Amino acid sequence: MRYFDHSIHFAGGGSQQIPAGKVVCVGLNYRDHVKEMDGQVADEPVIFLKPSSALVPLEEPVAIPVEFGACHHEVEMSILIGEPLGDCTEEEAAEAIIGVGVALDLTLRDLQDQFKQKGHPWDKAKGFDGACPASAFVDRAQVDDLQNLALRLTLNGEVKQLSNTSHMITRVLPLIAYISRYFTLMPGDIVLTGTPAGVGPLSPGDTLIVELVDVVSVTTSVTAR
Ligand code: ZN
Repeated sequence: MRYFDHSIHFAGGGSQQIPAGKVVCVGLNYRDHVKEMDGQVADEPVIFLKPSSALVPLEEPVAIPVEFGACHHEVEMSILIGEPLGDCTEEEAAEAIIGVGVALDLTLRDLQDQFKQKGHPWDKAKGFDGACPASAFVDRAQVDDLQNLALRLTLNGEVKQLSNTSHMITRVLPLIAYISRYFTLMPGDIVLTGTPAGVGPLSPGDTLIVELVDVVSVTTSVTAR
């Protein structure tokens, strides 16, 4: 297992490597995905963590476990944090965002369903090694409006997930402020902002195009871990 560094490409040229921290995720943040999961829109954001050991580069083949049942893709906009944020305001959150990217919240769906039924934590289904393939980041300054970006996942030439960050239930700044009431965000931490409808299983041999349209586009493939 190697340590993961986030790469960020700056608007003026040049790039920097930033040691990766934790991954903070939100579940059920797009209504169409809530519906496909037979869920209900929660009163507050549903927050969970992935450890830094879940991070792998999206630009390399995505190695999925094949011994634990279905492994689903969830395409999500990812946000790279550049300053410590504890119990922050939305204004402080806005100033601390340094990068914008795209990531997969890989989910062992069969395991997650079992854990949900038993009322057990779903960490193993969401936080396993390799559960968070993440793209390099684009400088925040290069993106006008975080809440008006198309998000798309194409599997073997077929568009499976297509939505827009305008459809988030809890938008980026209130989400970060909410998270920071419980978990101090540190430089190198990333926030995954939820997936729209169309999640489904991956198989070794699949090809994927994972896009935050006009910001980041990554073509990759799926292998067995
Ligand atoms: Zn997700």
